[in-house]
Amino acid sequence: MDREELGQRSETVRRSNLSAIVRELHADGPLSRSELVARTGLTRSAIRGLIGELAVAGLVSEERAAPLGTPGRPSPLVHLRPDGAVVLGLEIAVDSVAAAVVGLGGEVFDRARVDRPRGKSSVSETVADLAQLARRVLGRRPEADRLVGIGAAVVGVVRRTDGFVSMAPNVGWIDVPLGQQLAHALALPAPVSLANDADLGALAELRRGAARGADNVLFIGGGVGVGGGLIVDGKPLTGMAGYGGEVGHMPVNVNGAPCRCGSAGCWETEIGQDALLTKAGYPREGGLACVEVVLRRAAQGSPAELAALEHVGRWLGFGLAGLINVLDPGLIVLGGHFGRIHPFVAQTLGAELDRRALRASRALVRIVPATLGVDAPLLGGAELAFEPLLADPKAWAGRHNRLAELASA
Ligand SMILES: [Zn+2]
Repeated sequence: MDREELGQRSETVRRSNLSAIVRELHADGPLSRSELVARTGLTRSAIRGLIGELAVAGLVSEERAAPLGTPGRPSPLVHLRPDGAVVLGLEIAVDSVAAAVVGLGGEVFDRARVDRPRGKSSVSETVADLAQLARRVLGRRPEADRLVGIGAAVVGVVRRTDGFVSMAPNVGWIDVPLGQQLAHALALPAPVSLANDADLGALAELRRGAARGADNVLFIGGGVGVGGGLIVDGKPLTGMAGYGGEVGHMPVNVNGAPCRCGSAGCWETEIGQDALLTKAGYPREGGLACVEVVLRRAAQGSPAELAALEHVGRWLGFGLAGLINVLDPGLIVLGGHFGRIHPFVAQTLGAELDRRALRASRALVRIVPATLGVDAPLLGGAELAFEPLLADPKAWAGRHNRLAELASA
C-alpha cells in the first residue's frame, strides 16, 4: 500500500469514528469522555482529538462534570449542540400536514400541524400547503441557517432513492414525483428525503420512543390507512426499493370489503379507522374526533361501540399473529389510533394471539402503545433528514464552514 492509499484509509477511519461518536450522542444524549471510550472502543486520546474536531465544527460542546466523589479528575460531559445543525421534519397525512424544526440530538425547537379537509388532497395543493407551513416554522427559528436536511413522511408507498410515490391510496395519488415537487416548492439549500409514514414512525419510536434499545420491532400505525414499519436486527426492513412493509394491504379476508388500493379484504378494511367508525354506526368522515366519541361511549358500556372495538381487536390479533409467526418481532408498538384503542381491545387481541400465534414467538412478544403519539412519523422524518450528517459529520461541518466563508467573503 503506498502513502497516498494509507492516508485515504486513515481519513476514512477518522470519518467513521466521528460518525460513531455523533451517533452515540444523538441517540443517548450527553455522555462523558469515559463513556464514549467504552462505547466506541477508541482510545482516550483519540476521543479527545475527535471531540476537539467536532467542537471546532460547532457540533459538540463540553462541560465540566460535577465530581462524583470518586478519586481522579471527573470526565467532562460531551453533548451535541442542538443548534449546531437542524433539520426540517415534514409529514403528509390523510387529513393534515405537519412541519417541525428539530436540532441535533433530537430537541424539537418548533412544530406545527394544520388540519386539511379530506377532499382537499390534490398533490399541488398539498405541496403548497406544506411548503407554506415549512416556511412559517423555519421563519420563527434563528437556527434555520444551520439547516442540513429535510425529511418527509408520506402516507403512501414511497421509493426512497428519489421520493417517487408509487401510490398513496388514501389521498388518491398514483405515480407522483413528490420528492422533486417538494424540493422545488421548498427551494431550501438542503437535500429532501421522503419515506413511508409508518416506516418513519417506527424509526422515531426506535430512537426516541417506546422501542428504544430494541432490535426487532414491528410498528403499526393506524389512522384512515394502516401502515407498518419493521426493524429487523436494528435496521429498517424496507424491501428492494422502499415499497415494503405495507402490512395494511396484507390480504386477510377472502370475502372482505373493497380497499382503496384496488384489492379487497386487506387488513386495513377490517382494522382501519373507517372500519371502526362504520361498524360502530358513525360516518367514516368523522375522523379522529369521532374515534374519541366511540371510545368515550365504549367506556360507558355502549354495546354498538364495544362491538365495533371487539371486531377491530379480533382482526388486529388475526393479522398480528401472522406477522409474529413470520418476523418473531419481540416488540410490537401500536401507533396512531391503535395506541388509543389498545386498552379496550387488549383482552380480545391477547386471546386471538394465544389461539393463532406460534407458542415460542407469542411468549416472547410484548405489545405496547407508542409514546410519541400522532407526531411519530413527523419526528421520524426529522431523523431521516439527520442520516447523512450522522453518517459523515465531517462533510456537513465542512459544508457549513465553506458557507460561512462565502458569506464573510
Ligand atoms: Zn388494500
